[in-house]
Amino acid sequence: MNRTTVLKFGGSSVSSVNKIKEISKYLKERSEKGEKLVVVVSAMGATTDELLKKVSEITDNPNPRELDTLLSIGEQNTISLMSIALNDLGVKSRSLTGMQAGIKTFGKHTKSKIAGIDVDFISKELEKYDVLVVAGFQGFNENFEITTLGRGGSDTSAVALAATIGAPCEIYTDVIGVYGTDPRIYPEAKKINRISYEEMLELSALGAGVLEPRCVEIAKNYNVAIYIAKTLSETKGTWIMANTDLLEKKVVTGVALDKDILHVTLTYVDDSSNFVEELFNQLDQYSINIDMISQVVFENSINISFTCKVDDKNDLNEVIDNLEKAFNGVKHSIRTDFAKISIVGSGMRDVSGVAARSFRVLSSNGIKFYQVTTSEISISYAIDGDNSTKAVTLLCKEFDI
Ligand code: ADP
Ligand code: ASP
Ligand code: MG
Repeated sequence: MNRTTVLKFGGSSVSSVNKIKEISKYLKERSEKGEKLVVVVSAMGATTDELLKKVSEITDNPNPRELDTLLSIGEQNTISLMSIALNDLGVKSRSLTGMQAGIKTFGKHTKSKIAGIDVDFISKELEKYDVLVVAGFQGFNENFEITTLGRGGSDTSAVALAATIGAPCEIYTDVIGVYGTDPRIYPEAKKINRISYEEMLELSALGAGVLEPRCVEIAKNYNVAIYIAKTLSETKGTWIMANTDLLEKKVVTGVALDKDILHVTLTYVDDSSNFVEELFNQLDQYSINIDMISQVVFENSINISFTCKVDDKNDLNEVIDNLEKAFNGVKHSIRTDFAKISIVGSGMRDVSGVAARSFRVLSSNGIKFYQVTTSEISISYAIDGDNSTKAVTLLCKEFDI
């Protein structure tokens, strides 16, 4: 069979029927050159946000199963329009929902994970059709219910399909590639030509919204080369791969900002209890990913802080309710006015003084930080959200991002 490539087009790239038609023309040209294409698409423009807004007019705590059924229609809208456009151009194409494409998932509704994809089915379809248009962000669980993969999840659908088929993955979006930081915040940021899975994973996990972290993790595990570039532009994009050219190495590769975080502090007076164990059990049961964990035990009192995603707010409230019922006198505070800013670079392993430089640049410019955590290749600071743009600019200038 001909070479197969997986391509993904994000929400802003398919935000109008005209854009869908233009992309379809481009796909026709590619397919005429002899490639088989699996095209993963997101919902048009801000469709997902609009659907969520409608829900918020009904309740703050929607049934997650129904939410998944609703959100999946965004992507289903795009696949059918694109396949209609392709057929109209004479391309042998077919649209597939996540379930039709055999994307099996496990875990909770609204944040399900891909368990596997039925490769035989996709291969058979590729014998009959030149372009398969697959709905990103969605799959189905063991009860044949529609599930979704969490915001930005179409990236993950695309890379998982590429890993299953053994194809490369091209991700098309509204920027020309991965920059050292979000160019909307620091427009002077430079584009990166090549970046390692490890650094991209750290940047994504710490808030660089250009790629969903799960997709980078899958790419790393299955060695899928990702090329990310601007939709219908000739400008060269960014390669994400295992080994990058050492000559391009900087000590700090990027600065990530995450404003959509909750900063949670819990206090409980009895340090001999299983309070901390139960807290982590509950966070795990509700699939809440936490970061920036710090724990202080003073006299008999435990004080534990962490950050998590704003999207997890409802689940977090349930966890806190459960703990308050089980442990008398638990106190909690949730702050929404913090942001997490991180510097990332595998060069930090070998070069000392990076922490000192970043501390200095933030403090000497009056930016307070409330918590600091490090990994081997990153340093993260919890700062006032209002200082975000200033802090990103200062760190980018300091480290030539
Ligand atoms: P899509 O809808 O195509 O999935 P997203 O909005 O999810 O697109 O991601 C692209 C956006 O990511 C860009 O418009 C940019 O503002 C933002 N972004 C954040 N960090 C970075 C970065 N380091 N490099 C490039 N873009 C970034
Ligand atoms: N439409 C979904 C979202 O807006 C998934 C995606 O675009 O990747 O989050
Ligand atoms: Mg995205």
